[in-house]
Amino acid sequence: MTDQPRERTMSADIERLRQAIRNVPDFPQPGIQFKDITPLLADPQLFELSVDLMTAPYQQGDIDAVVGIDARGFIFAAAAARKLSAGFVPVRKKGKLPYQTIEKSYDLEYGSNTVAMHVDAVPSGARVLLLDDLLATGGTAAAALQLLGNLEADIKEAVFLIELDFLGGRKGLGDVSARSLIHY
Ligand code: AMP
Repeated sequence: MTDQPRERTMSADIERLRQAIRNVPDFPQPGIQFKDITPLLADPQLFELSVDLMTAPYQQGDIDAVVGIDARGFIFAAAAARKLSAGFVPVRKKGKLPYQTIEKSYDLEYGSNTVAMHVDAVPSGARVLLLDDLLATGGTAAAALQLLGNLEADIKEAVFLIELDFLGGRKGLGDVSARSLIHY
């Protein structure tokens, strides 16, 4: 009973975030319903709220590095890193990182993608959060988690602003706990 008002506030907050996400049909190709987060980012209160909710279970000192996925994940991960006084670490598309890298390829519906991290991006045992804007099929996040596993990071959680539940992406994330603010 006592936590009902808090739950109500929480779901009202999530609804405010949801209202700020614009659906763009057939972008970047026919059949894709693109979730455009730029209206949310442009609103200072909603941007702050989204980062607050993504980092809510943690306090300063709980996390060593927030790992963001190229490119929209960087926006949330950098802000979350500042909030938690943690470092920021990028997972980038192949060919963008200048130093020695580890890489992981994964299949898309047509073709494949490769993501990369620097070999020394996080020390063994580092407590990390993985952040991205959206979990779709899960291929990108699963590849990023595999790289973090190779670096022997202590992965606390994978957090997403949006999850497309009907694509079942979280099944590919193995034992890692996944949390998303908005579900479609
Ligand atoms: P996936 O590997 O299928 O989980 O795709 C996740 C990545 O693709 C994320 O980094 C998203 O930014 C992007 N993405 C996939 N589907 C969408 C969509 N419908 N709207 C916006 N971004 C998407």
